[in-house]
Amino acid sequence: MSTGILPAERLDALIGELWAAGYTVIGPVREGGALLYDEVRGSEDLPVGLVDRQEGGRYFLEPSGDGRFFGHTVAATPWKRFLDPPRRRLWRAERRNGQLHFLVETEEEVRFAFLGVRACDLHGIRIRSAVAEAGPEPDEALLDRRRSALMVAVQCTRAGGTCFCADLGTGPAVDLPADLVLTELLEDGPHRFLAESRTEAGAKILQRLSLGPAGEVDRAAAARAVAATRRTLAERSPRLEREGLRELLYRQLESPLWDEVAGRCLSCANCTLVCPTCFCSAVEDVTDLEGARLERWHRADSCFTAEFSQIHGGPVRASTRARYRQWLVHKLAYWSDQFGEPGCVGCGRCITWCPVGIDLTEVVRDLRRREAEESGERER
Ligand code: SF4
Ligand code: SF4
Repeated sequence: MSTGILPAERLDALIGELWAAGYTVIGPVREGGALLYDEVRGSEDLPVGLVDRQEGGRYFLEPSGDGRFFGHTVAATPWKRFLDPPRRRLWRAERRNGQLHFLVETEEEVRFAFLGVRACDLHGIRIRSAVAEAGPEPDEALLDRRRSALMVAVQCTRAGGTCFCADLGTGPAVDLPADLVLTELLEDGPHRFLAESRTEAGAKILQRLSLGPAGEVDRAAAARAVAATRRTLAERSPRLEREGLRELLYRQLESPLWDEVAGRCLSCANCTLVCPTCFCSAVEDVTDLEGARLERWHRADSCFTAEFSQIHGGPVRASTRARYRQWLVHKLAYWSDQFGEPGCVGCGRCITWCPVGIDLTEVVRDLRRREAEESGERER
């Protein structure tokens, strides 16, 4: 595939090529005090010169002072908002002349170009797609949206405050075949992007831009920028130790720690809404008062709501303790049983956007510490 240098002032040309190729371009945009993913028409829509500061239960934006387009890390909402819309009608039925007529929904065909996808989110999309593919009835609508989407990844040249991708092997370097991979560079030359195509579709876009060649200096600057991010992550590592993680959680299902976490957890479901891999959903039927029209809707749901596990007149997971434990053990243990890897990519969103700052990595460390202390006491 090909590599070239995209001068920063030509980022608009790339965005224009994506639109011209028939894609709806989605990228990071500022919405109030946070970054979300939404439609991007030009580089002026991007959060230029802003960085995000993230920690448990806290998020704010501040000037970077260097004019970078992608100095921030992951935006608040994951890309699943576009691949798996939170609300969509599945079908409608109408009663006419005493007969029911079913009208299957046909979706408007939209091909997305995701601009600024981080390495962890590429893995999130891969993991979410694997769930959609599994089982006897694959979610073809989601899979079609994914297949038709073009991924323009951006390598992380800064680690966010709550990121731990390196512990899970999902970042910071882009190791999955995105169509295009950009690395934003300010050092050893003017503001520019090292642009690499990794698929035919990506190569066609680069060809139309007629980029200048990338030199050794550019490649070395890109490698150094990603290595610096990796070093920052390594200094905090391991936030989430994978060794024996699944077994630890299964041994600790009755730990009193779940009660302590539940004492803080508001069951607000924020963590599941922002998580790129969470996929709980519900199906609702809606009728009009005369019974002449019926609609079936698919909507995003969360394992944190009491109604989610409602059967036979009561919820299976009636307490916050049961719901938090289910979420964490599913994410880090049951998921491995089903798919051979955890359902977490270390994006850190659930830590940042938890209103009370519950940090899943701290919960796991606490479980390990307590287990080690208990076994130490037994040996004494
Ligand atoms: S569990 Fe948290 S850190 Fe892991 S992928 Fe989901 S939001 Fe990101
Ligand atoms: S862990 Fe935090 S974000 Fe998740 S439901 Fe509890 S309070 Fe809300």
